[in-house]
Formats: sequence, structure tokens, C-alpha cells
Amino acid sequence: RGVCGFMLVFGLQRPWEVTSFSDSDYLHAVKICCTDRFVVKEISLFEEIVKKFKVEYHAGGATQNSVKVAQWMIQEPHKVATFFGCIGNDKFGKILKEKAEEAHVDAHYYEQSEEPTGTCAACITGDNRSIMCLEKQKHLLWGFFLTVSLESILKVAKHASENNKIFCLNLSAPFICEFFKEALMKVMPYVDILFGNETEAATFAQEQGFETEDIEEIAKKAQSLPKENKKRQRIVVFTQGKEGTVMTKGDKVETFPVLEINQSEIVDTTGAGDAFVGGFLSQLVQDKTFEQCIRAGHYSANVIIRHAGCTFPEKPDFH
Ligand code: ADP
Ligand code: MG
Ligand code: MG
Repeated sequence: RGVCGFMLVFGLQRPWEVTSFSDSDYLHAVKICCTDRFVVKEISLFEEIVKKFKVEYHAGGATQNSVKVAQWMIQEPHKVATFFGCIGNDKFGKILKEKAEEAHVDAHYYEQSEEPTGTCAACITGDNRSIMCLEKQKHLLWGFFLTVSLESILKVAKHASENNKIFCLNLSAPFICEFFKEALMKVMPYVDILFGNETEAATFAQEQGFETEDIEEIAKKAQSLPKENKKRQRIVVFTQGKEGTVMTKGDKVETFPVLEINQSEIVDTTGAGDAFVGGFLSQLVQDKTFEQCIRAGHYSANVIIRHAGCTFPEKPDFH
């Protein structure tokens, strides 16, 4: 069900600071969280985190982040970026609505009281982040539509394809490429623009039997997968953190360097890829060139990694 998460971001100075957790399971969990995603079994860990660390609350959900960044890049008119999602009838749901309003996003939330609004915690250590969520809410963190309602995606995807509109998809997580590849590949024929990062690209290639680890080759192969709407050739865009972004151009492929940033100026890379997508889309809807889309993606990602969570200053400075 869930598509929107609510993110908790807290500044964890050193991974070993959490050794004060009494339960050894937690200890293990928090230790490994600094390198990877994992799932927490108990809500009490969240309560403990809130008590022990300085916690910041941010509205999250990858797509919601991208939509917010696109609206921010465009600025006027308000509400050109639309978002659909589901929230619980609770405090976090209320905050999500307020945040969407503040960001001038046209958000439509299905409000229900059976399930709480999805929440997850992100541990930030240097330029690394890891994200955790509750076991019973893991469908919310991996809360990509693909894992809960393939029919919804296909409905939108087919509509786009039949009407020659542009349908974009973010691979979102290696997890999706691996455990939801069947659903993913049902949508793929409708995908006009495919986004992903380097680890997602690698997992995708492995799962699809591409037999290459070269990211440019992977992009080319993903580009040439079967496609329904022949009027638009698929475009594949893979970001790679501080390394250049790979984009297919027809049957060719090119790599575009990212904006330089002193690594010490990075506050939090959470949402970097989402911000990239938001910037990219902000130009795409204005019929700008794909090179311009990439430039805007790099710009917004560069801004977002200087701030905690997926947040930004009042106005962009992009020309
Ligand atoms: P994701 O958040 O999906 O893992 P990436 O890590 O590839 O996405 O980051 C997306 C974009 O954010 C990059 O293309 C780049 O512009 C910017 N970015 C992320 N991490 C860094 C970094 N360490 N240094 C400079 N730019 C970065
Ligand atoms: Mg990354
Ligand atoms: Mg990403």
C-alpha cells in the first residue's frame, strides 16, 4: 500500500556510539546499518534513537522527494508537480501533508486508519547513510508501487504509452531489481526513461544476465530491451555518486561528469539520486535537451547533498 515514507534523520557521529544500546540484537543491527540497509524488528529501537540522538524529521519517499525537487527547480507556477500516495491518520501523515503544502506540490493522499504512515530512520555517518525501517513496515520502505500494486503502475504506464506520453521509472534499489524483477520487467516495455544508480545498474545487469559489469554497456543493453511505444526510443540514465552520470543517446552512450564538491561539504547524501531525478524532470517537462536535463539533475543533487535529508534553500540558482 504505502508509497510515501516519513524519514527520520539523525546525526550519528561514530558508528560505535550506539554500543550503549542494551539489546545485543540492536547492537548488531546498528553496527551493520552504517554500511547497508537492514530491517529493525522492534519499534522500541526508534524510541531509543529519538531519546539518545538529535533527531531531525523529514518528509521522505523517493518519488515524493523527486517531485518536490522538480517543483522547487521550476518554482512558478505552483503545483505543477503532482504526487499520489497513502498516509495513515496520524501525526506523521499530518506533517507530510503540511510539507507537501509548503513545497507547493500538488499532493493527493489516500488517508486511511488501518496502517500508520510509513516511517524509517536514516543513520548518517560522513557521506554514508543507511536506512532502516520496521519489519512489519518494510513494504513501506521498499514502498515502491512496484512491490505493492503492479496493476496501478501498468495502468499509468499503458496510458502513457498509448498516448505517446513519457513514462519514467527509477530502479530505486538493488532489492527491486532482484526480488521484484518479474514485476519490473512487466513495466519495462513501457519505460521511456529509466533511472538508477551504479549498484542498481549492476544488480539489474546480473539479474537480467547481461554478462557485463561495464556500466555503459549495461545502459546500452537496458536501452535496447523490448519497448512498446516505438515513437520514443528509451533513454537510460545511471548516476554513480561522485563518478560521472551515464546516459544513452540513441544507440550510443555518454558519460557526464558531476559537479565538483569538496567531500567535506557533504552533509547527507540521502535523496541525492531522487534529487537528480527531480532536477532532470524539471527540464524535461520544459522540453529542454537531455544534456540540460542532466545538468539540472547534477545541480539539484549537488544542492541536496549539502543539506540534511532531501531539503533545499528557498530558491535554486540554476541557469
Ligand atoms: P543514489 O542516491 O540513488 O544512490 P547517487 O549516489 O548516484 O544516487 O547520486 C546522485 C547524484 O548526486 C550524482 O549524480 C551526483 O550528482 C550527486 N552526488 C551523490 N554523491 C556525491 C558525492 N559523493 N560527490 C559529488 N556528488 C555526489
Ligand atoms: Mg549512491
Ligand atoms: Mg536512488
